[in-house]
Amino acid sequence: MTEPERLRGELVESETKYRNLIELAPDAILIHQDGKIVFVNPAAVALLGAAGESDLVGRPVLDIVHPDMREHVGWNVETDLRGEESPLTTVDLLRMDGLTVTIQGRGARIPHGGRHAVQVVLRDVTEAKRVEDALKDYAARLEISEEKAWNRLEEIEIIYDTAPIGLCVLDTELRFVRLSRRFAEIAGAPVEAHIGRTPAEIMPDLGRQIETTMRRVIETGEQLDLELCGTAPTTPDVLRHWNAHWAPLRGASGTIVAISATVEEITRRKRIEEALRERERTLQGIFRAVPIGIGIVSDRMITEVNAPLCRMTGYAQDELIGQDARLLYPSDETYAYVGQEKYAQIAESGRGAVETQWRTKDGTVLDILLSSSPVDLSLPNQNVVFSALDITKLRESERALESYMDDLQRSNEELQRFAYVASHDLQEPLRSIVSFSQLLVRKYRGRLDADADEYLGYITEGGQRMQALIQDLLQLSRVETQAKPLSPTDAAEVVADVLRLMEVAIREAGATVVADQLPTVLADAAQLAQVFTNLIGNALKYRHPGVAPAIRISAEPAGTSWRFTVKDNGIGIEAEYFDRIFVIFQRLHTRDAYPGTGIGLAVVKKIVERHGGRIRVESTPGEGSTFSFTLSAA
Ligand code: ADP
Repeated sequence: MTEPERLRGELVESETKYRNLIELAPDAILIHQDGKIVFVNPAAVALLGAAGESDLVGRPVLDIVHPDMREHVGWNVETDLRGEESPLTTVDLLRMDGLTVTIQGRGARIPHGGRHAVQVVLRDVTEAKRVEDALKDYAARLEISEEKAWNRLEEIEIIYDTAPIGLCVLDTELRFVRLSRRFAEIAGAPVEAHIGRTPAEIMPDLGRQIETTMRRVIETGEQLDLELCGTAPTTPDVLRHWNAHWAPLRGASGTIVAISATVEEITRRKRIEEALRERERTLQGIFRAVPIGIGIVSDRMITEVNAPLCRMTGYAQDELIGQDARLLYPSDETYAYVGQEKYAQIAESGRGAVETQWRTKDGTVLDILLSSSPVDLSLPNQNVVFSALDITKLRESERALESYMDDLQRSNEELQRFAYVASHDLQEPLRSIVSFSQLLVRKYRGRLDADADEYLGYITEGGQRMQALIQDLLQLSRVETQAKPLSPTDAAEVVADVLRLMEVAIREAGATVVADQLPTVLADAAQLAQVFTNLIGNALKYRHPGVAPAIRISAEPAGTSWRFTVKDNGIGIEAEYFDRIFVIFQRLHTRDAYPGTGIGLAVVKKIVERHGGRIRVESTPGEGSTFSFTLSAA
């Protein structure tokens, strides 16, 4: 390649680059020569509202300049052509479609077809100028400097972006022009999704309602509020609540040019309100349903009562509400006492419970259990909720019960005294009868006739039976009358003594008696001996004919007590009689089969219970019985 060829190639390349740059530049570029337009790029065609470059090429360049500025532009062109730098100039241009566009531009001399031409770069500053004019206007209106006006606008901007409520502006065609981030959040769609669209397009659910209200704002020029409830596009399953406020925005001439709206989400508040209402309804339900009198007193005045309270006191609701609570009390003293006592308790524990008396409308005096508690503890006289339980009947039956108990105890004591005196005093004459009838038998048996012998036998036997009965009755009454205080008692020692005393009976019955290790317990030693005597005696008595009795006495711990057992291999007891045998005079056999009075187990039970213990029996008929009782550990 020759040098000129290489140079040509480079030239073509650079030319192409330059062309592309100009064609694609976002700024409008225009070249004029000898006062006529010779070139425009597509951005310039668009800026000047032309259909194509042919609309412009060939036109005198000053034709498109606003007449007021042609002279000024002319000077600049001359400067450019001299190859000097002309200043950046703001100029209004007349577009092909008749509109005006404000541009900022600067020219520069370039070679074109071997001669000088001027290339101008134009930038559309219409919008910026509009803002500047508006700012000037705004400053003038507020009579402040432009700088102050600008600062204020910036403040508003910050407020707009950070306000906790949603803000937006819509044009008179109800299309979103501007909205804050918070608004987008509340509405549930991004900011960009709103611009240019109407509320109905974004929120089909609520759009109609919103648009109707906004139209009214435009028609009437009034500000309006509306509570909205519905779903947002991003949360179609959640029912949400908003509070919206619309205000018209007026242009310089006073006509409405837009609408501004503020929107606040109140879903949470609504839910809380609903929950509170629900709670209020529940409380009201309880208030009505409970069978207890409930009311509220504020500064001694009754402010609320439920139906049971009215029923209890005989007053109608409106006879109580608004009255001093003193109305319910039979005397000033009772009222004063309740007040003092209750407040002392409330001060200490937050609630007070007092037993008092109320007087009903018809004068009846009721026993009342009164509980109260102020709703707010720091205001103990305000809104004191009280409940009143009518305990008149309870108190009456308590009093009746107490008097029965007294009577019972008295008659019990009398009976005991009677039993003791009777059995004690009967012993003496009975002894005479028995000993003299025995004398009679000894001296006259066989000397009278056979009948007389038989009768004498009955008399002696009857007397002896009566003696046994009286002995046992005395034993029973002595459980109380000769009771000794309980003291630590070695059960092993007691049992050993008992076995020694019963040695003959045990030997005669051919019985074996085994006593395991036994503890020390809290007992009256003589009575404990009586218990073992009676139980071992029965074990010997109620044995199988022909089977040697085997008796075992043992003890095991049971909590803070000991459980003693006396186990035999005798005839046993049917389960249905387990309770009955402990009742006085209850026997399961005839005297002929097994002698006895039916008192022994009653004595045992009475002693065990006097010691605070319990006794029971387990048995398998034909195999044996186990009596067990508890006594406190020493
Ligand atoms: P009594 O032995 O004088 O009849 P108790 O009060 O001691 O009176 O006993 C009541 C009844 O309980 C007895 O009549 C007897 O039927 C039954 N009983 C008591 N102990 C035993 C025992 N170890 N085995 C079988 N039955 C018994």
